[in-house]
Order: sequence, then structure tokens, then C-alpha cells
Amino acid sequence: MTVNLSSPSPYCVFKYFLSVFAASPQIFINNEWHESVSGKKFPVFNPATEEIICHVEEGDKADVDKAVKAARQAFQIGSPWRTMDASERGRLLNKLADLMERDRLLLATMESMNAGKVFPHAYMMDLHVGIKTLKYCAGWADKVHGQTIPSDGDIFTYTRREPIGVCGQIIPWNGPLVMFTWKIGPALACGNTVIVKPAEQTPLTALHMASLVKEAGFPPGVVNVVPGYGPTAGAAISSHMDIDKVAFTGSTEVGKLIKEAAGKSNLKRVTLELGGKSPCIVFADADLDSAVEFAHQGVFFHQGQLCIAASRLFVEESIYDEFVKRSVERAKKYVPGNPLNAGINQGPQIDKEQHTKILDLIESGKKEGAKLECGGGRWGNKGFFVQPTVFSNVTDEMRIAKEEIFGPVQQIMKFKSIDDVIKRANNTSYGLAAGVFTKDLDKALTVSSALQAGIVWVNCYLAMAVQCPFGGFKMSGNGRELGEYGMYEYTELKTVAVKISQKNS
Ligand code: NAP
Ligand code: MG
Repeated sequence: MTVNLSSPSPYCVFKYFLSVFAASPQIFINNEWHESVSGKKFPVFNPATEEIICHVEEGDKADVDKAVKAARQAFQIGSPWRTMDASERGRLLNKLADLMERDRLLLATMESMNAGKVFPHAYMMDLHVGIKTLKYCAGWADKVHGQTIPSDGDIFTYTRREPIGVCGQIIPWNGPLVMFTWKIGPALACGNTVIVKPAEQTPLTALHMASLVKEAGFPPGVVNVVPGYGPTAGAAISSHMDIDKVAFTGSTEVGKLIKEAAGKSNLKRVTLELGGKSPCIVFADADLDSAVEFAHQGVFFHQGQLCIAASRLFVEESIYDEFVKRSVERAKKYVPGNPLNAGINQGPQIDKEQHTKILDLIESGKKEGAKLECGGGRWGNKGFFVQPTVFSNVTDEMRIAKEEIFGPVQQIMKFKSIDDVIKRANNTSYGLAAGVFTKDLDKALTVSSALQAGIVWVNCYLAMAVQCPFGGFKMSGNGRELGEYGMYEYTELKTVAVKISQKNS
């Protein structure tokens, strides 16, 4: 399923795309395409039109077992993958990044059609981040190493950072392609083999990436992609006795199930990147234009479907009314519609379930006494669109201030003092991200050290970079992804102690 794309038009790709998926995409195991063992397929939708794009072979436990066998075989001592130079793993990852670049238009079109991403964002941002992630990880492949240690006794001691083994990687629908690269990049750089389960809503870019993995020249069994549902294929991964690690991104609720399944099976290593209800704090001395825009992007970007969404906005009392006014003006600028069309800057929510959940939370905000400043309902009558919505006069106990909404809904709360806002910001079971806006350096440092969050942005928001570790405090997750720390999550540390006749300092 590779394509030489000469036309710059997404519509051209769209036609090609439909022809490719006339036959149903299959399960990718051992560098080959397989039908599901059960013979079942599942439909994949375009959330902007509610139409079926294609049917995909539905992986379940039996298919996961096949994939695990292939991944285990590829990980055997003496296999091509285990004996390959680390730098060669880096070369393969760079090749994969180059193939993504070649198929950028196709991948961006798929992401836009299947995940509802506004096309320019998919093309410029998701593809950019995905390619960069693979290249960054490629650079690490031959730089992950141990130490020599001056241990007591006549012993020469060194450590090795070895791959963990077969890794199951379960990813969500809100950034399907980026999440795919975040998962496979570090795992492959460190020499593991993987089985990826994409979200049932968005398996298409992962399957195209699988074809590129083969084209890049990765040995069979190193990367396997099993599309399917969470409670079946996903659960088969998290409870598998021959999977050594599971990496998951998604809801906190499912994160708990994954950890429980790991505990009840083989105590596989678990890293979790879960939900959030991230505070964004704007002090009266902040640059107002900039703070309004960052706070806005923080919660409206990709229709609010971000784990790091700035979904609890605390604004200091003296600038509150002006801040609300400007935020409402900003939110009203959206043009929702089919995200493949030019001029559209808001796409649909991913599916009916999410759409219903968001509308229900909006209704709860109205009932619980928040002031609806704009939006407040569905947009149009086809596709899962939600009007950009802003609530003011939000108080901490309202559902919209406590629950993850994952939609284009901004909650603006008022605060009086620095101590008060720190307490309120931390009063949540989540701890993924936070933002602070102030020109006062002392305030910025005081607040950023007091906030319980894996990442704190000062005078900016959503400033993510592949070089920086990412992950959550509290119930927002375990472990870190990306950066140097993210690499180590895909290694086991081995200490080797060698008896020698006499050591010298
Ligand atoms: P989810 O169920 O947690 O989905 C994430 C992934 O986990 C999907 O691949 C899913 O498969 C899989 N999964 C589901 N149940 C599983 C199980 N029992 N064992 C193993 N894997 C399982 O998330 P969702 O239901 O799509 O969305 C619900 C809420 O989660 C959202 O409203 C949002 O609050 C949050 N969320 C957070 C993120 C994030 O980036 N942290 C991303 C997405 C959603 P399926 O494809 O069958 O669902
Ligand atoms: Mg789900």
C-alpha cells in the first residue's frame, strides 16, 4: 500500500485512498498481511460525515497470540534483530521517517478523514511531529548505554541497558499517527519488538505505517499491528503471559484495567499516559493578549481532544471580566466543517459516544449554574460537531470543573490569591500538565514548583518537544515518554559483576 504522490491536492489522495481501502485492510504480523482468525471485520468511520470509510480485519486474542509468537521469534537471541548493530536500528528508523515524509500527503489525508483532524494541522503538525519523533529516536539507538562502576572488592562491574523484550502498545484515537511514533520509536531504538493495537476508531494510519515498516527493511516480527477492540484485543495484550511490557495511552479508567491485568498475569512492566484536568493560571500582570490565545489554544486545539487540555482556567479576579470577554470573542471565530475542506478550522469529535458525553457535560454546566457565554450545543445535523463553548462563573465543584470533557469547552474560574489558586489547582486526582501566566519571575517559579503536574508551562501552553520527557503525576499516569527518560522506559538495567585477580584505582 505505498504510493508515489505527485499531486498536492488532498482530494486526489482521497480518491486513491478509497481505492486502496476497497479491499479491507488486514492485520500486520511478521511483515505479512493476515485475515482475522475469527473471520470478523469492523467498520471504520469518517466522523465528519458519519459514513463508513472501510472495514478492517478485527484482531482478537488468537490474532494477538500470533503476533506475540512472531515478536518473540524476532527477539530470540541470535536473531537478525538481536544481532543487528544499534546504529543500524537507527538507520532503519531514519528510513521509516523518510518514507513517512514521502507519504506525507496520504497519511495526513487519512488522519484528517479518519480522526477528524483539520487537514493543515494533520499535514503540518502531526506529520511533522511523527517524523521528528522517529528521527530523534533513531539518534538514540546507539547512544543508550550503561556505566562502569567502582564496586567494592576485586570485581569489575558494568551495567547494560538491554531491551525489555516483546512490548504491547495500546494507543488512542486523538493522535493516532503521533502516538504510533511515540510508541514504536523508543521501543525500536532500544531493540525491543512490538505489537501495536490502534484505537478501533482510527486504525488506518497505523496500518499504512506497517506497510512502510516492511518497506524500510525491518526484519519480520519486529513490528506487528493488530487492529481491534480494547476489551478483546487490548485485554489480550495486557493480560498476555509472554508480553514483557505494556505501554498505554488513553483513559484513566482503562489504565487501571491495564495495570490490574499486568498484575494478575506476569507482572509485565507498565507505562501509562492517562487523562488530565489541567489547570491554567492567569495572573493579573500577565500579557493579556498572549494569555488569552494560549489558554484558548490549550483547550480548543483539535476540538479539545487532548489529554493536556487546559480545561480548568483560573483567572485573577481583577482581569476576570475582560479575560472572559476576549476569550468569548476568540472562541466565536471558528468555522466548523469537514476538516478536509479549505477554510475549516474545527473538525468533528471522534464518535457518537464522545459527542454525547460532551453534550451531556455541557448540559450539566448549564444546570449547575455556570454562565454559558457562547456555544452550548451540537453544530449542524451531520457529523459529530460541537459548537465552541465557553462557560464563565464556573466553580470548583461543578462537573465541568472536575471531569475530563475532551471537547471544545472552556471553563473559566476566578481566583483571589496565589495560595488559594495553588490549592485549588492541585485539588484533583489528575496531574498531567499546567500553565502559569505572569511577568513576575518569583510568582512563576513559586507556582510552577508547587503544582503537581508532569509538565508546567510558563507564559505558554502546549509547548511539547520530542526532546522533553512527558507524563503524569498522580492518576495521570506512570512513567515518562520521550526524551532520555522515555528511552530508559524501554530498557532493563543489568548489572554484570566480573571477578578479577586484582583491581587498581
Ligand atoms: P480508552 O477506551 O481508554 O481507549 C484507549 C485505548 O485503550 C484504545 O485502543 C482502546 O480500545 C483500548 N482499550 C479499551 N479498553 C481496554 C481494555 N479493557 N484493555 C485494554 N485496552 C483497552 O479511551 P476512549 O474510550 O476511547 O475515550 C474515553 C475517554 O478517555 C475520553 O473521553 C478521554 O477522557 C480519555 N482519553 C484520553 C486520551 C489521552 O490521550 N490520555 C486519549 C483518548 C481518550 P478501543 O479502541 O476499543 O476503545
Ligand atoms: Mg474506547
